[in-house]
Amino acid sequence: MRRGSHLTDAHKEKLRQSNLGKKATSEAKANMSAAQLGRKFSLEHRARISEAQLGRKVSAETRAKIRAGRLGIKNTPEARRKISEANRRHWKKNPMPTGPAHPLWRGGDTKYGPGFTEDLRRIVRWLYDDCCVLCDMLAEEIGPNELSVHHIDYDKKNNMIDNLVPLCASCHSQTNARRDYWQDLLQGRIQECA
Ligand SMILES: [Zn+2]
Repeated sequence: MRRGSHLTDAHKEKLRQSNLGKKATSEAKANMSAAQLGRKFSLEHRARISEAQLGRKVSAETRAKIRAGRLGIKNTPEARRKISEANRRHWKKNPMPTGPAHPLWRGGDTKYGPGFTEDLRRIVRWLYDDCCVLCDMLAEEIGPNELSVHHIDYDKKNNMIDNLVPLCASCHSQTNARRDYWQDLLQGRIQECA
């Protein structure tokens, strides 16, 4: 289709119907993408696109392709500001629930065993040279209180020395999700050190 051609709504609907369920070849996709380069959409048009995309789930495969295509591309400060504002609007509209409704809620039993003392935590940090076992950040770089001692098997009552590793706040927050993954990785890590 020529750029700038004007089709009637009826004609566009016919085209849409005949294209439903069809997959474009990669050549056709490249042509379409070239035709869109530098094109600016009106606010109204953008709102319609955004509405049509609402609730649409993107497959993991597609997400991987998008990510691969964007590798090495840095957002401009302007784009970053827009993304950050959009995220803020999103979380304001859909606040993350706290307590049992939070996706990472694990029952709320956060009681540590009686042996989990400051002395024990100091020994664990010392064993690993006062640095985070995941990113090697030193306690002195991040402040000694930022290096927390993590229970590898997530059992806060299991204070055996081989169940404990120092983690910085950033790495520690990541270990809340994908627990099997982190447990395997950290168990491997302490085996290397033993
Ligand atoms: Zn770390």
